[in-house]
Amino acid sequence: MSLQNQIRVIPPVAKALAVLAYLGVAIGLIAIAIPQSRNTSSLPKGGQVVLGLFAATIPAIYVLLLGYIYGDARRRRMRYVVWTLLAIFIPNAIGIILYFILRDPLPVFCPRCGASVKAGFTFCPQCATALQPVCAQCGRAIERNWPHCPNCGAATAMGKAGAGPAPPVPPSPQPL
Ligand SMILES: [Zn+2]
Ligand SMILES: [Zn+2]
Repeated sequence: MSLQNQIRVIPPVAKALAVLAYLGVAIGLIAIAIPQSRNTSSLPKGGQVVLGLFAATIPAIYVLLLGYIYGDARRRRMRYVVWTLLAIFIPNAIGIILYFILRDPLPVFCPRCGASVKAGFTFCPQCATALQPVCAQCGRAIERNWPHCPNCGAATAMGKAGAGPAPPVPPSPQPL
């Protein structure tokens, strides 16, 4: 997924808050904190400005990350409010790291009705379209390269193809 798409996940409110945080922190640092601190007041004025502009990116990136977690957890159908709160309140960015370790896979879209479906589902809950190859006999999900169904043992389409010419079968009505 492109960076542009990732940025689109961040809610506009979080982007606006990040800009405000950046400006607020940069102005506060350059106007007040840096000239008054014993460590930085001896820096030349230009150096103080660069330091303030640089340091202010940290809270702005933090706000953008929280916004990303909110939007990303939401599109993954996770508990997005809970995850955003965990990311804010678990110290040392551990909540943020946990989120990226534990997040669910992105939902997929049903090719027939377009509903967003949790990854791993075999059928679309809205229109019952098969989202993965399924066994013609028992209807359970199978992998494309399995010659036989692991649930009922029936030969799959691939198993039949691999077994040479298929025996003649009487014509049957096409499944939907
Ligand atoms: Zn569907
Ligand atoms: Zn089966």
